[in-house]
Amino acid sequence: MSIKITKECINCGACEPECPNNAIYEGGKKWRMSDGTSLGLKRKREKGEEYFCSNPIVEQEPKEKDIYFIVSEKCTECVGFYDEPQCITICPVNCCILDKSNIETKNQLFKKKNFLHEK
Ligand code: SF4
Ligand code: SF4
Repeated sequence: MSIKITKECINCGACEPECPNNAIYEGGKKWRMSDGTSLGLKRKREKGEEYFCSNPIVEQEPKEKDIYFIVSEKCTECVGFYDEPQCITICPVNCCILDKSNIETKNQLFKKKNFLHEK
């Protein structure tokens, strides 16, 4: 399961630097699969179109304009890095919650983590 940010977000920015996958962005900011991951040009040339999005270095449109948002394609619930989702732990208003529309098993989350950070 991915984590999502609800409308109660107060835009404090505390969660963004805590994410090991660079999956959290400020409202209105464009995002890329390659931000904070190993999905760069080199892997694209070697392995072709096997990404969640067609090109990891292309900027994608923001998912929210006025509040911070989590890119579910990059969120691993912190699996592979920490025992607990760091954004949930640090958010002062408890607006980081489980996204029940994005359910993934722990095994799937490990695979996603390895995909994002493969050397
Ligand atoms: Fe990032 Fe972890 Fe929060 Fe997912 S749960 S957005 S990986 S800090
Ligand atoms: Fe919003 Fe919580 Fe992140 Fe602060 S820590 S930006 S309130 S989601």
